[in-house]
Order: sequence, then C-alpha cells, then structure tokens
Amino acid sequence: MDLYHDDIEIYKIISKEKHRQKYNVELIASENFVSKAVMQAVGSVLTNKYAEGYPNKRYYGGCKYVDQVESLAIERLKKLFNVKFVNVQPHSGSQANMAVYRALLNHGDVILGMDLNAGGHLTHGYKLSFSGQDYKAYSYGLNSETEMLDYEEIRQLALKIKPKMIVAGASAYPRKIDFKKFRKIADEVGAYLFVDMAHIAGLVAAGLHQNPCDWADVVSSTTHKTLRGPRGGIILTNNEDIAKKINKAVFPCSQGGPLMHIIAGKAVCFKEALCDEFKIYQQQVIKNAQALANQLMKLGYHVISNGTDNHIVLVDVYKTSNISGKQAEQLLEKVNITCNKNAVVNDTLPPMVSSGIRLGTPAMTTRGFKEKDFIKVANLIDETLKNKRLLKDIKKDVVDMVKDLDLIM
Ligand SMILES: *Cc1c(COP(=O)(O)O)cnc(C)c1O
Repeated sequence: MDLYHDDIEIYKIISKEKHRQKYNVELIASENFVSKAVMQAVGSVLTNKYAEGYPNKRYYGGCKYVDQVESLAIERLKKLFNVKFVNVQPHSGSQANMAVYRALLNHGDVILGMDLNAGGHLTHGYKLSFSGQDYKAYSYGLNSETEMLDYEEIRQLALKIKPKMIVAGASAYPRKIDFKKFRKIADEVGAYLFVDMAHIAGLVAAGLHQNPCDWADVVSSTTHKTLRGPRGGIILTNNEDIAKKINKAVFPCSQGGPLMHIIAGKAVCFKEALCDEFKIYQQQVIKNAQALANQLMKLGYHVISNGTDNHIVLVDVYKTSNISGKQAEQLLEKVNITCNKNAVVNDTLPPMVSSGIRLGTPAMTTRGFKEKDFIKVANLIDETLKNKRLLKDIKKDVVDMVKDLDLIM
C-alpha cells in the first residue's frame, strides 16, 4: 500500500506542491522548512495512537511509548525556554490561545490585545474570532510617527478599560517587544500578562529576543514558524496554579486526543533548537532581514519603522510604487516570489487590499540564503513591482537562485 498506487490524485498534487516549494523564493514570514528528522516523526506510526490525558495519566491503554515521547518533548521544551511548566498538546497556535483564555478568564471579561490591522493576531480579540466574541476586547495599535508600540499609550488605555488580561505579541511587527514594560502595565492595572510569541519563538530560543517566560503569567507559541518544527502549539508558564488550569483547559476542555506524531515532531524540533547551529541560523535570519530591509530602503521603499530587529520586513508598496499590497502579492507570485499583503499603519486601503506586503527571512535562510541573496531578492522585487523587465525574465533569475538548493533539510 502506498500513496502512488492507492491515490494517484493526491500523490500528484503533493508532487506539484513539492515542486512549487522547491522553485519558489518563500518569503511568507510565518513559514519555514522542517528537517527530514521532523518530517519522519510527523509521518510515523504515532498517528495511529489515541492518548487522551497526560503522560502516566491516560484514558487509553498501550501508552507506554507515547508517554516517553511526550515526556521528552516536555523536558526539552522546559530547558529551551528555561520555564517550569509546559503543555505540548495544543493542535495549533489558535488552540493554544483558546486554552489560555479558557484557563484564566470568564465569559465577558475584558481583554486588551494588539489590533489585527496593526499587526496583531485574530485570536487577540478580533470580532470574528472566539476571542472577540466571548470576551470584551479592546485593542492597541502603533504610534503613527514611529510605527512602533507606544507603551505609554497602551498604559493609558489599560488604566481606562481595566482589562483582566493584556495580550502581547504579534504576527506582523518587525521590532523587539519589551515584555518587561508590558509586565509593569499589567501589574499597575492588576491584569494577567499573556504573551503570544508565535512568530519570534525561534529568536527567543536562540537568546536573540527578550524571553517572555521571565515576565508573563503565561506564554503561548506555535512551533512551525521561526521555531522550525511541525505545525502546532505550546503553552508555557512558571506558575503552578496556572499550569494546572492550562492542562485542564487543553484537555478535556478544548481538545480530545493529542496528535502524538506531531508531539514527536515537536520533541525533535526542540532538540534541534537546543543546538549551537540553531543559534547561528537565527542570527542569520536577522542579518538577512536587515539586509533585505536596507536594500529596499535604498531602492526608495518605505519600510515600516525604518528597519527590523527580527525576521520580518513590512513594506509600504502603495507609497512607493502606487500599487496595492494585493497587486504586489499577485505580481510577485508570477515571478515565483511568495509573500502576503499586509495592512500598514493608518492604512487608507481596505484590509483585503492593503498598502503593504509582509516579507520574512526564516524559510529561505533555512535553505541557505545569505545577505547577498536577500539583496538580490530586494532588487528582483523592485524590478517586478516597477515593471522594469519582462516578468518571465525576472522569474528565470528567481528560479536560478533556488533550483540547486535542497528542499528536504
Ligand atoms: C500564527 C499565529 C498564531 C496562530 O497559529 P495557528 O497555528 O495558525 O493557529 C497565533 N498567534 C500569533 C501571534 C501568530 O502569529
């Protein structure tokens, strides 16, 4: 029994997707390429096993080996972020966040998170998310001059609305976030501080960003972005009472059986992230993002906040080349550069159109790109958006950059 013989339709589609991944310059800031080891764990027999509950406290028999897998994942994760309690079962970042809300809040409680249009996430209080429907959500944005977080503004808003929980963390913010300042605000208004480090977890693990576990009551993350593991979520805390509530909020409150193959993939990813090479990789991710940002600025683009501290470069393409983020995303796709449209500070275009694009360096850094490659990528983006050469000629140059690079790491 194998996929090729049993289901040629799906086999062919996966082959095409593999081809797409190999021959594109992948700049989606939330994506990455996992190692062969992670892939093997995720594609293993562990997918067959039911294991509701936690290690040594399961509702099913036959859990001897999956207990070992989950225990290893837990121990490695605690070491990675220097934290006392973790839960490795959330199926995704959004599921992790739902469990955090369920653990610490009651229906209708007031929360304060970052506005989706300013770079926050759906689960930080957006009206179409459970987080905006089950809780009374307020949001903070960015300072329109610096295009960065304005902690005094956040403090004033917190003093006014008295949230039970403040949510820090973002999906499209190119600067360091000062969790210590958020802690001070939370203490002043008597709120929990919840940090969602989904995007920056890899940088934190490598010691290149302040560790939110030192400041927040609870921290969540995805494992598939800069952390470079399988798709999934995790929750971390140093508070034992909160840890107990989190475990109940994951299972049985919001999930059933854990995905043991994914948890094995997470364990492999945590081991990789504990190695010195991972630190070098994350340093390169930041150097590459800065090279990309600098070259785009040299070419006349407005880069939000005039640069980056992390893996993200947000570009206002509307200001520079008078095309929308949506058009830019579509044009770049034609030359095999993949990215996504993104709102910018005080965007004049609707969210589905947007004035900006969000670029990220984690994926191509994994495939071996260095600063000089990202300078070239900036030039190719510019040629595409300003229509300087035929798209098919630009595409050929893009393909030349990636055709000899590995896809399975
Ligand atoms: C990506 C992301 C999530 C959600 O992760 P999913 O696995 O897609 O549910 C949550 N929070 C932030 C800040 C993110 O960037």
